[in-house]
Parts: sequence; structure tokens; C-alpha cells
Amino acid sequence: MTNEDLWKAVLGQIELSISKANFITWFKNTLILNNQDGVVTIGVPNGFAKEWLENKYNLYILRALKSFDESVKTIHCVIAPERVSSITPNVDSLKNVDAVKPPENTGFVRKRLIEKPFFTATGPSTTTFHETNLNNRYTFENFIVAENNELARAACYAVSQNLGMAYNPLFIYGGVGLGKTHLLQSIGNEVAKSSPEKRIKYINSERFTTELVDSIKNQKIDKFKEYYQQMDLLIIDDIQFLAGREKTQNEFFHIFNTLYQINKQIVISSDRPPKAIPTLEERLRSRFEGGMIADISRPNLETRIAILESKIAEKGFIIDAPAIRFIAEHITQNIRELEGALNRVIAFSEFHKISPTLENTEKILSQLIENNKKTIQVEDVFRTVSEFYGVTKEALVKKGRKKEVSHPRQVMMFFLRTELQTPFSAIGEILGGRDHTTALHAFEKINTNKETHARLKEELSTLKDRLYYPA
Ligand code: ADP
Ligand code: MG
Repeated sequence: MTNEDLWKAVLGQIELSISKANFITWFKNTLILNNQDGVVTIGVPNGFAKEWLENKYNLYILRALKSFDESVKTIHCVIAPERVSSITPNVDSLKNVDAVKPPENTGFVRKRLIEKPFFTATGPSTTTFHETNLNNRYTFENFIVAENNELARAACYAVSQNLGMAYNPLFIYGGVGLGKTHLLQSIGNEVAKSSPEKRIKYINSERFTTELVDSIKNQKIDKFKEYYQQMDLLIIDDIQFLAGREKTQNEFFHIFNTLYQINKQIVISSDRPPKAIPTLEERLRSRFEGGMIADISRPNLETRIAILESKIAEKGFIIDAPAIRFIAEHITQNIRELEGALNRVIAFSEFHKISPTLENTEKILSQLIENNKKTIQVEDVFRTVSEFYGVTKEALVKKGRKKEVSHPRQVMMFFLRTELQTPFSAIGEILGGRDHTTALHAFEKINTNKETHARLKEELSTLKDRLYYPA
């Protein structure tokens, strides 16, 4: 087996066991440089990848290597950007590189090969005062790192230390209230602190659209573009709101390209991966996918407790451990709500001069927890599924097995079962009088596949968010 074949086989195995975002991020542009005396030397594009492969993915890699070559004992990574940049990517999402993409766009590797950016940081002489929109309350220091967000956090931090050179564009996605804005703002604040001369702009895509529309109305579109094209760091939050807005996407595309070509950093967030944003222009999608994509998922109980503890300390308050645990156990969906609940406990205790014991905390939050148990109806599932996949309710209930409809239909059946505990016979009824075995099979198929298909798992988690937290 050649080194190349061996690595291909190993990657194929690893791809099945970690999330897609992680896989692309860390295994893109890697190769086996040498395999001798039980030591496999892996070439990686940068120090960052080295650290992750050696520390975090060591076991995965070793296990996979051993299954093909028993003599392997250890792995060792070396930074070899010139080597890895010449390899053909073996990550499937890189295969659909489209024609409009500049040929040199192979992710972050190319950046390291450019000696110096040919655009000086001091900027053009037309410099005018500008609003960064940064909120200094969001920093890397007060962001709790845990399993659910470590990749996104690491990527954001790397970008802040290496503007335009580490990962460009950087695309962060995850559900509501999970810390996207916090991380994006942290990049801005970090850069503002370390390099005050850099021009930074944070803006959410809705505001960006409004500004753009206004500038068109006032015939100032050139000024608008010129302004954005001067940025060293452009951060666009919640890009999903650009979906369906052709004109805005078009202008954004040009601004994006201008910045990208001169190595200016672009950071984007969204509530879902680029692939799952309907009506996102293909050329924008492929640009986003050409950079680094990292996700943030829901925090587990330990993380929620850690976040609460840090926020309590930040506020200089004291809450009993059992009470903290109670909050973390009951507010599970997102960190914004977790903070909201905490603030409520603090405000209430201070106002009534009571101490936040477990008992009092239970009382204070009882109403909130009750309201939180939002009950969803069959109609909510219909709406969520049909909006997400862009299929009509009629199509979902109609006969017919076209793939575009049958997958959404199966997902709908799955959710009716998991979220509403609907009997299979009733599920069949709801979906156009289908047999109960059809519903059972659909449920089982989705339930099994989600364990092995990271994409599907992601899709279901986004959908579940939508179901309970419609935009
Ligand atoms: P999103 O933009 O993903 O909807 P935000 O960034 O607005 O979420 O986060 C919601 C709230 O939760 C913010 O107040 C943020 O500071 C806080 N938060 C989220 N993740 C963390 C974390 N890992 N550590 C500390 N605070 C967090
Ligand atoms: Mg946000």
C-alpha cells in the first residue's frame, strides 16, 4: 500500500467518526510524508493543525492507521505547507470547486506562501471615522471553552492572531444563543486591542442589507462599497438573512471578492452550514466552503454549569451549587436563556433580600420553566419541515416517492414520533393516509442513519431548534 493509498483509507475511516466540519478543518491538506519503523509522519499545513492532530485526534488516527498497517506505533506531525499545498484534496466537499473560484483558492495553505500582503495596513488616505459596532463585553477571556464550541473558538482565536492568513473566510454556524456573536465579536475586540490601526467592521446581515438598500436609494452605492472594501476585518453576523436577497448577495459577493483577493479577513456566522441555506447563490456558497467552517453545538450539562459559574463570578454574586445545578438542568436549549434565568434569580433575590438557595431558585424559576415547556403541534412540524426543505405541505401528504419529498416526509414522521409521541398509525394518517409500517420504517431509517451520517444529525438538530424556536 502506498502512503497515499494508506492515508486515503485512513481518512475514509476517520470521516465516519467525526463531524464533517471537524474533518474538513483538520484533515484537509494533510498527507503521509513517511512511514517507517512504526512511525508515521504526517504533513500538515500549519502549527494549528499539528496541535490538533497530535493531541486531539491522535487516537483516531492511530486506530485507523493500525487497522491497515499493524506495524504503526506512533504518529508525528510536521508542518509542511509547501508539500501539502501540492496535493489533491481528498475531502469530498472540495471536489465541487466551481469555475468562478480563483485558482489559488485552496483554503488557508496558499496564504502562507504569500510573502507579504500587497496592501498596507495604514489604509487609504480617505480614512474617515467609522463605527466598528464592537461591544467590548464579548471577549475570548470570558468565553467558556467546552466540547461543543472548542473548534469554533480555536478557529476564531487563530484568525484574530493571524488576520487574513489563518483561515479565510471563516464561517461559524450553530443554533440560536450558542455564542456565535460572542465569538465573532471577540475576534474584533482582540484585533482592536492588539492592532489598533486595523479597520474592523462588525455588522449583521440585516443591517448590512438595510444600509445597502438605503445607499442605492440615495445613489451612494459606490461609497457604500468603497467603505466596506477598505476593511481589514469584516465580520458579518447571521448571514442566513441574505437568503433570497439577490441584489444584496450580489453586492456582498463583490465586496467579499475584493477583500478576499487582498488577503483581508472575512468572518461570517449563520444558524446553519452554507449548504443548508436555501437560495444562497451558488458562487457565494462555494466561496464560504472554500474557507474554514466550524460549528457550535448545544452545551452539555457540565458546560452549562461552568458557564453559569463564570457568569456568577463575573457579577460578583454567590449562588449555592445545588441551585446552579438546578438552573443548568432546567434551562437546556441555549446560553442566552441560561443567562436570562440566572439574571432573574439574581434580580429577584436582591430585590426581595432572600438568598438564592435551591428552594428559592425553584420558586423563582417555576413560571419560566413552565413556559419553556412549549408544546408543539402537528402543524408546527408541518411548517418547520416544509419551510426548511422548501416543499409544500400538500406535497408532503400527497402520494409519490420523489426523493425531494420523501426525505422531508420521513423526517416529518421521525419528529412526529420523537417530539409528539404520535402512534405510528396516526403518523401514517397525518401524512396522507399512509400505512403504519411506512411510518415505522421511516422512523427507524432516520433514527439509524442519524448515528452514522453527521450531515443528517446536523440537519435534525437544526430542525429541532426551528421547531421549538421559530425565527
Ligand atoms: P448567538 O449569536 O449564537 O445567537 P450569542 O453569542 O449572542 O449567541 O450568545 C448568547 C449569550 O450567551 C451571550 O450573552 C453570550 O455572551 C453567552 N455565551 C454564549 N456562549 C458562551 C460561552 N461559551 N461562554 C460564555 N458565555 C457564552
Ligand atoms: Mg448572534
